[in-house]
Amino acid sequence: MISVAIDGPAGAGKSTVSRQVAKRLGYIYVDTGALYRAVGIKFSSLGFDTEVKGDIEAVLKNTTVDIRFQDGEQHVFLDGEDVNDRIRTPEASMMASAVSAKPPVRAFLLEMQRKLAREHNVLMDGRDIGTVVLPQATVKIFLTASPETRAKRRAKELEEKGTPVPFDEVLADIIKRDHNDMNRPIAPLKQAEDAVLADTSSCTFEESVELVLSIIRERLG
Ligand code: C5P
Repeated sequence: MISVAIDGPAGAGKSTVSRQVAKRLGYIYVDTGALYRAVGIKFSSLGFDTEVKGDIEAVLKNTTVDIRFQDGEQHVFLDGEDVNDRIRTPEASMMASAVSAKPPVRAFLLEMQRKLAREHNVLMDGRDIGTVVLPQATVKIFLTASPETRAKRRAKELEEKGTPVPFDEVLADIIKRDHNDMNRPIAPLKQAEDAVLADTSSCTFEESVELVLSIIRERLG
């Protein structure tokens, strides 16, 4: 099986670029952030805030998260319910970042991610795919862009979805999430030693796709 690990900070275009690249290669695209988002909304539905104080293990014991693919699109199910739409809010982003710093949450989602890579050719994106989840990945890419570029892209996405958020707020959110993700003691966001750095600050979407495809093709030989 071939596995491509794409890690990088929030808003680097990982998911849109990865989805397109996976399609071109005929691999399954796994968006691991969606799993953390699903766990995040579970905790917020139970009244937890971003401090996530309380019996985390007990909550996880009563939680199921599944991924199913429908027409090649990933759908995440939380306790049997398709939550693909509910996980795409700024609140869900913040809760995802908060719960993802908790070791039991990472352990809860780890085996599921590895199993997908054992059974399919995958392109998996996240924060720790190349470093922790799939250290033996065939190709590792660290996809990034400047915080301003990432905030601009995210603000545009939110506007197109009909849920606009002011640019300054989006930027502050991104900087805060970068900080959380890079400074947590467990599975922090960092470039794997053997990952190729791809900076898409000055790339259009199509150029980013081509850049990632060229790195993968070069590595696969
Ligand atoms: O990629 P996305 O923005 O959907 O991820 C939401 C949050 O989930 C991130 O801010 C990060 O804290 C967490 N995450 C993670 N490890 C992954 C994927 C996402 O910690 N592999």
